[in-house]
Amino acid sequence: MPIRPILDAETAARNMAEIEPKYSPQEAVVEANRCLFCFDAPCIKACPTGIDIPAFIKKISTRNLTGSARTILESNILGGSCARVCPTSVLCEGACVMLDRDQQPIKIGRLQRYATDHVFENDLQVLHPPKQKSGKRVALIGGGPASMGCAAELALLGHEAVIFEKKPEAGGLNTYGIAYYKLTPEMSLQEVELIKQLGVEFRTGVEVGKDVSVSELEKEFDAIFVGVGLGHTYRLDIPGEKLPEVQEALAFIEEFHVNPLHEVAVGKRVAVIGCGNTAIDAVTQAKRLGAEQAVIIYRRGPADMPAYVYEYDLAKRDGAEFIFHAVPVEVLEQDGHVAGLKLARSSVDDQGKLTVDESDTYELPFDMVIKALGQEKMTDMLNNLLPDLELNPNGTIKTDANGQTNIPHVFAGGDGANGGAEVVNAVGEGKKAARGIHRLFTQEDIEGPIQWTRMGVVDDKPLGSGLDNPVRVKEDAKAFV
Ligand SMILES: Cc1cc2nc3c(=O)[nH]c(=O)nc-3n(C[C@H](O)[C@H](O)[C@H](O)COP(=O)(O)OP(=O)(O)OC[C@H]3O[C@@H](n4cnc5c(N)ncnc54)[C@H](O)[C@@H]3O)c2cc1C
Repeated sequence: MPIRPILDAETAARNMAEIEPKYSPQEAVVEANRCLFCFDAPCIKACPTGIDIPAFIKKISTRNLTGSARTILESNILGGSCARVCPTSVLCEGACVMLDRDQQPIKIGRLQRYATDHVFENDLQVLHPPKQKSGKRVALIGGGPASMGCAAELALLGHEAVIFEKKPEAGGLNTYGIAYYKLTPEMSLQEVELIKQLGVEFRTGVEVGKDVSVSELEKEFDAIFVGVGLGHTYRLDIPGEKLPEVQEALAFIEEFHVNPLHEVAVGKRVAVIGCGNTAIDAVTQAKRLGAEQAVIIYRRGPADMPAYVYEYDLAKRDGAEFIFHAVPVEVLEQDGHVAGLKLARSSVDDQGKLTVDESDTYELPFDMVIKALGQEKMTDMLNNLLPDLELNPNGTIKTDANGQTNIPHVFAGGDGANGGAEVVNAVGEGKKAARGIHRLFTQEDIEGPIQWTRMGVVDDKPLGSGLDNPVRVKEDAKAFV
């Protein structure tokens, strides 16, 4: 049977609503006051963008929300989305000293969201690029978190940044791929607007390699940043894979980022192949969109799951089921539609070697199969775009610690270079590459957040009062700025 949308608009919206509600002002101040404001805080080191977490939390405790948001955004321009999507329990909150005291870590993600929401709700511009420009221009291929992190930093350093994005909207997976109940496309697009305010130009609907070539970009720009992310989901390569109800996880998730939630077709019995974070996102969202049964099928055991434990717990709470030690060998068909899966039992030995016993199979009924086996590298596209670009053996872009590739004016970062990590890694790598590009242009090294290290960045003149002027403010007075 073909699959159809299951829920009405109201139920779909309720099921997919954000899972972490915003703090009230009282809750935020109480939580901020639990922070010990550690010197040399481990949470800062655990953040790939190096946000001064004790400083922004201190500012919340003194009700200086604009200053708090500025502290976040000058280190991480996507601080609003990272507040929602970061795996905080393995990053900043996982490093919180409260854990050594057997106490709950400070809820850094929720506090970060509280501060950054203030900027969006009040339409504030808290970061100001210098009016005097360097005259240097950088083209960024791809409009995801890596390019946005790079472009914002370049703008704050006085360089012109133009992002080329093939999709109709910028934001990359933030706009099209992150679980809806963590980050809505609307929130992602608000961040795109924030970056536009810095003077970054977005040319959407433009595919580099098709609509414009790299050699054309090289004529117009002084440097190039490659932030193309990853490609399609790996194939199953089994009979029945071409049936209409067999979908890639990313395509399924993208559908309800571009269409109303209640118009997205979902099966009543959904199988999700794979057990990484994308598989978890697919299974929970299938369930929330009305699937009666949504099952993860994984070839190894629970201890080998690549998904974070908290994501696994979330899926269990949503009623998702898990079948371990099973490998799909055929998608079963009836009248041209998915009717189920034939699964072979598998086992893993002490050395982690997987064995599939294709003589020991069983069948289960499903009407939809979602593939979440990881994303392919963009090897072919990169070879076409930049034939001289050096790739690692696994197909990722080879860079040094500053994001510079073997071609001196070409830098890279994000999933296409790191093989697939988190939004915050992409932003951090983009930012590092921007500093590398700045060094290429000026031979100048930049340390720390730009608004703090560069005199006169705000409208090209020192800000009025001593407290407002970052250059004159002492470290211990940061809480008031
Ligand atoms: C399903 C899913 C869920 C995730 N959930 C989380 C999460 O909860 N938390 C988290 O921190 N991370 C999550 N991630 C990871 C995170 O989304 C990525 O690490 C991050 O988006 C990488 O950013 P990027 O800019 O490198 O790539 P992308 O976000 O993929 O952006 C690359 C952009 O480049 C564009 N592009 C590609 N080629 C061209 C071209 N030739 N011309 C023009 N444009 C081009 C693409 O259209 C795309 O918009 C998730 C990933 C997936 C797949």
